[in-house]
Amino acid sequence: MDIDGRVRTHHDELIQLRRDFHQHPELGFQEHRTSKIITDYLGDLGLDVKTMAQTGAVGLLRGSAEGPTLLMRADMDAIPVQEENPVSYRSVHAGRMHGCGHDGHMAMLLVAARILADCRDRVRGNIKFAFQPNEEDAGAHLMVDEGLLLDPGVDAALGLHLWSSLETGKVAVRPGPVMAASHYFLLTVKGEGGHAGFAHHSVDPIAASAEIVGSIQSIQTRENDPTHPIVIMFCRVEGGSSPTIIPEKVEMEGSIRFLDSDGEAIRESFERVVRGVCEAHRADYDLEFQVGNHVLANDPSMAGFVRDVAKKVVGGGVTEGTRTMAGEDFSEFSMRVPSAFYFIGSGNREKGTDYPHHHPRFDIDEDSLSIGVKMHIRTALEFFGRL
Ligand SMILES: [Zn+2]
Ligand SMILES: [Zn+2]
Repeated sequence: MDIDGRVRTHHDELIQLRRDFHQHPELGFQEHRTSKIITDYLGDLGLDVKTMAQTGAVGLLRGSAEGPTLLMRADMDAIPVQEENPVSYRSVHAGRMHGCGHDGHMAMLLVAARILADCRDRVRGNIKFAFQPNEEDAGAHLMVDEGLLLDPGVDAALGLHLWSSLETGKVAVRPGPVMAASHYFLLTVKGEGGHAGFAHHSVDPIAASAEIVGSIQSIQTRENDPTHPIVIMFCRVEGGSSPTIIPEKVEMEGSIRFLDSDGEAIRESFERVVRGVCEAHRADYDLEFQVGNHVLANDPSMAGFVRDVAKKVVGGGVTEGTRTMAGEDFSEFSMRVPSAFYFIGSGNREKGTDYPHHHPRFDIDEDSLSIGVKMHIRTALEFFGRL
């Protein structure tokens, strides 16, 4: 089957879909316009289409024979950033943009669904094309809760991300952990308020908080095995209202990230430092943790399979790539079924598409899109052994 030829035939449609999504970005669980375009498109292909997880959609392609079910997933949401790209398809919504590449993910999976639906005689099993809302804030579990992996039961899952720090023409895939777990913390350091002139009559939560921010770093540098990276970041610190008043409390929020460490142990270390510093300062604290994303770990055999396919698509462009401390809720699927999540290079310095994800100038090299479509089609057909 001439996959390259078929992808070329749909090239204009691919770019047009991507630019349309790009121009009309919608935030997590608000992807109403996006969802309508997707459900109409999948419906036109003759797939069984269901709305899930508020604004998500899944299209089921039943192949020509009984066989396993493969899940292929694209995420749908934009981010709350003001776009600064001077392009014709620039976001029409102030303060929102597709700054992570999910516009490209949807366009690639839709065009792949069209081509795969055209050759369903080669699909010996089923493909679920899942369009998932709210990836930026862990929306995947809602699709799992609503039964995405059931009826027919999903046997394996594939996902990809366009990646601006990887050059166009490269595909990165590796076995094991690839994207980090992220646990969020909300810490309130409680003191006793009072006059800045009589600090000895108060308990200053600001001094205690500042010391906590500094001391916590020693978990990363002195307590943790540095060959198993962890990241602890304070991203919001809030307390006080005036230059003369010692506040009652300081609130701090942030995240703890790790790839192959024991999250429970890191949380215990975190609380031990907080407790110790607070005690030293006569302060008290409340501490809550919440799991954002679990570790995204690739099944070794699925990762090997994707790697073999990628060699046929980009030849020498296959790389192991780096692991990243960013989170990705594809982990909700990878922790339940054998999965691979891989990266399609979309960075091109000359075209200015090498800005980091979530940057106001983030954009993708559209030449990378057809590589993603080819990867989707080849992985799907080879999964069923019918290329
Ligand atoms: Zn993102
Ligand atoms: Zn993303």
